[in-house]
Amino acid sequence: QNKRNNRGCPSLFAKEQATELEQRGLIEQAIRSANLDKELSVYFQPIVEVSSGRIAAFEALARWHSPQVGQVAPSVFIPIAEQSGRICEITHTLLAKALSEAANWPHEIKLSFNLSTLDVSAGERTLKLASIVMHSDVDPRRIDFEITETAAMGRENEVQASIADLRALGCGISLDDFGTGFSSLSQLHALPLTTIKIDRSFVSELDKNQAGYKIVKSLLSLSRDMGVECIVEGVETTAELDMIKRLGGRLVQGYLWSAPVPAEQVGVLIAKHEQTCLFLAPMERAKGQERAP
Ligand code: C2E
Ligand code: MG
Ligand code: MG
Ligand code: MG
Repeated sequence: QNKRNNRGCPSLFAKEQATELEQRGLIEQAIRSANLDKELSVYFQPIVEVSSGRIAAFEALARWHSPQVGQVAPSVFIPIAEQSGRICEITHTLLAKALSEAANWPHEIKLSFNLSTLDVSAGERTLKLASIVMHSDVDPRRIDFEITETAAMGRENEVQASIADLRALGCGISLDDFGTGFSSLSQLHALPLTTIKIDRSFVSELDKNQAGYKIVKSLLSLSRDMGVECIVEGVETTAELDMIKRLGGRLVQGYLWSAPVPAEQVGVLIAKHEQTCLFLAPMERAKGQERAP
């Protein structure tokens, strides 16, 4: 019986592999022929200040709807676009769209925008990013560019130069998915970072085991020692939030507040958070009074 299973397995595996490859091929083709301006859109997810409940920033997240293959997640199409050579064009289209939205928000709310490795691995590429920023109605100081740890490694010199260019413009640089890469602290130290984003894999371990708690605790204290801002990503439960509060985390992001929303819903989210703030303030005061003698 074992034998029969063993014989069945390879062919089943090959079949699955073929369809996956086919699917990838279809996506690659669809990206090549895509009308980027029409098919790409940007969703926004709030980054919230723990103490006040106010929205400090929105992270822009790419959404792609292709007439050929339908909705494709960014975790799927971004890596394919990186290999097939259209990533920079995609980044530029998304950045322009995100900035035109951010121009309408209250000015104390920042925009956080993801860059891929290839966007920062040659100096002249940053020039195009800079030109899009300068032609927008958004103050560069309101923009944080997110790069991943892996992007910052291997091509340190080019990436470092690009980051320095963006910093010189007045933009911030956030290290995304922090803790999942393999960069050493000395490599990190060499980058002019303004923010680190603690990856959600650590957050989901927060209330399950002591190790998760210790990791988040030390990453938060590392960010304080480095003098950079810190955002805890992927917060889904109030139990996780309570622990982050106890550890002194200042900025948080996750489904507990909101999933990424289309641009039209950003205004509603801002209004909702402003209301919660007005509502929360007296509650916090009341709590304080309760404890007082
Ligand atoms: P990321 O930059 O780390 O973005 C956070 C991802 O986590 C988003 O997935 C977001 O929807 C999801 N998320 C947020 N809060 C929660 C939560 O509480 N629980 C869980 N389980 N997930 C949460 P999304 O939008 O599918 O994006 C996936 C990744 O694709 C991003 O990870 C980023 O690396 C990449 N990406 C997205 N948009 C862009 C873009 O415009 N350019 C580039 N280069 N990469 C992008
Ligand atoms: Mg990100
Ligand atoms: Mg990421
Ligand atoms: Mg992340």
